[in-house]
Amino acid sequence: MRKPGASTQCVHLGSKTDPATRSMTTPIIENSAYAYDDLETWRAVALKEKSGDIYSRNSNPTVRAFNEKMALLEGAESATDFSTGMAAINTALFALLSPGSRAVTIKDAYGATYLHFTEILPRFGVQCEVCETGDEAAILAAIGKGCDLLYLETPTNPLLRVVDLEKLIAAAHEVGAVTITDNTFGTPVNQHPIQLGSDLVVHSATKFINGHNDVTAGVVCGSADLVEKIYRYRELTGPCLDAHRASLLLRSLKTLALRVQRQNDNALQMALYLEKHPRVLQVNYPGLESHPMHAIARKQMPGGFGGVLSFEIEGGLEAVSRVLPRLQYAALAANLGQVDTVVGPPSTTSHVECTEEERRAAGIPEGLIRYAVGIEDIQDLMEDMEQALAIL
Ligand SMILES: *Cc1c(COP(=O)(O)O)cnc(C)c1O
Repeated sequence: MRKPGASTQCVHLGSKTDPATRSMTTPIIENSAYAYDDLETWRAVALKEKSGDIYSRNSNPTVRAFNEKMALLEGAESATDFSTGMAAINTALFALLSPGSRAVTIKDAYGATYLHFTEILPRFGVQCEVCETGDEAAILAAIGKGCDLLYLETPTNPLLRVVDLEKLIAAAHEVGAVTITDNTFGTPVNQHPIQLGSDLVVHSATKFINGHNDVTAGVVCGSADLVEKIYRYRELTGPCLDAHRASLLLRSLKTLALRVQRQNDNALQMALYLEKHPRVLQVNYPGLESHPMHAIARKQMPGGFGGVLSFEIEGGLEAVSRVLPRLQYAALAANLGQVDTVVGPPSTTSHVECTEEERRAAGIPEGLIRYAVGIEDIQDLMEDMEQALAIL
């Protein structure tokens, strides 16, 4: 049979009628411990000889349904849940690295992730090399020196830089490294890092996976043995998801393709519009032919280029602070991937901890605006943008 399309997958993958209740939707099992009639069964479940749950820090039926659906959507053997995206990333790194390990990553990784490689991991004796995101030769050279872990993210926040996953992951595997890809911006609708060789995929499920601004969550997907290693660490440290949020995420996943495809379309049209606007100096979006990695993005993002773009306007932060409050259909907030359009400058979102000089060094101009498009009608969003930019 033909492989089902993205929307069919989002609706049907992993969905099953609950055998106990005949409920079509996964019941919310709000529970901390599970009771057994006899010690033998309890012990067998505790030792994983029998399937079942013991305690909800370790596992919960509603949360397991979310993990199973995420693994299927990412084409992974297994997945494990977290309370936030950062809990997923922190746990994956601490489960896989040890003093003396060497890790390679890119400068444009998500702010809190970047600080793991520059501040946290070095304190535990992990040697970290953080490369210029746009300098592929430098990344390949850093991998070539030998490393235990390669951590990638594409497209990046807020400059929408793109790295060639297939090439960098293949180089990492040649030196025996484990590879992790943050697919938050890509989403499993647009980009499949596991097909491109990545051992693990991490998500801030707070973003597109949830999409309704009512949940924080994270997930790690990948091979059964690596996910088990990460799950084991999470079981001990405790940043798990809960049944109620898992249920909201299961609902969100049913419309993931519908939402993301609309966001892809809206973002591309907005990027094309902004590129022609006389007050706009630069537009960053992988779907634009002017994007330096457009050819790679076309190849590795077959579903579309995502719902986030950024653009620079004349007049720096002063102009940004006058334009943004005029937008009627965009919340000024530190989130993205939601059904509502969300905007913000890097100085209050992704790079809030940096000084103006640090932002400049990272190539982030003060006149930059991150625009995370929602599912509104694009005509309304463009008219709204037109009237907001008109004060410049
Ligand atoms: C938001 C985000 C994270 C962190 O996720 P939280 O759910 O906020 O902890 C990690 N990576 C990327 C790309 C993000 O956008």
